[in-house]
Amino acid sequence: MQKDRRSVNVMDIDFVNKTQYQFLVEDIFPGLQRKEKKFIVTANPEIVMKAQEDGAFKKVIQEADYTVPDGIGIILAAKLLKTPLEERIAGSDLTMDLLDYADEHGLSCYFLGAKEEVSQKVVKNIQLDYPNIHIAGRHNGYFDIDDRKLAEEVAATAPDIILVAAGCPKQENWIATYKDLFDHGLFMGVGGMFDILAGEVKRAPEIWIKLNLEWFYRLLQQPRVRIKRTLKLFEFIWIIIKNRKK
Ligand code: UDP
Repeated sequence: MQKDRRSVNVMDIDFVNKTQYQFLVEDIFPGLQRKEKKFIVTANPEIVMKAQEDGAFKKVIQEADYTVPDGIGIILAAKLLKTPLEERIAGSDLTMDLLDYADEHGLSCYFLGAKEEVSQKVVKNIQLDYPNIHIAGRHNGYFDIDDRKLAEEVAATAPDIILVAAGCPKQENWIATYKDLFDHGLFMGVGGMFDILAGEVKRAPEIWIKLNLEWFYRLLQQPRVRIKRTLKLFEFIWIIIKNRKK
């Protein structure tokens, strides 16, 4: 079942079928203004494949408020299924737009994730680049998912935006487990984005992104970490093609 008409289903996951601009202006910014509680999953083929293998994780994604197509693999799959999506909505782009919005409106953000020194650098850089953002708090991503006390501490800071960069599925599972502790907030798992915000890892140059080759750029940057994930991308496309023929 589709969540609404503005979604496209790929392997049992409903993806937001809007441009990034529409998604922000129609859904996310009004939700922040109204202090709603919302959970965005930025799903790439690797996450969709993980959901196929892990039913509990699939439920976490299906119960999120929004799943956006992060990665050209999802766009390609939707096209192959003859239900094309408006456009790719990358978690990295969403993060930057959310930070801009938070800065313009003086919102508070909690930064949960990444290695301790990366976490410290993220906050330092945010304070410099987004002076109007109120830093609700930060914590590194090497916590135990069962650590309820940490979640209660984060909730007590009442952040407007909670970015969780602890890798998939840990970040999404943490959000799904603990978001009930919060009164409001926009939650999003942002993967390796804190490494980028801290200046440790470079995002692909614009031209690579435009050519839909960001995955290839990442593979070249971190071949050993990325090779397994890149193979998942091809496995995902292969499954889509195989099932389409049936
Ligand atoms: N990470 C973390 N806690 C963990 C495992 C990973 O905070 O238990 C962090 C890690 O330091 C890095 C990020 O999660 O900053 C990596 O996320 P991932 O590789 O999933 O990012 P993606 O490549 O999917 O954007």
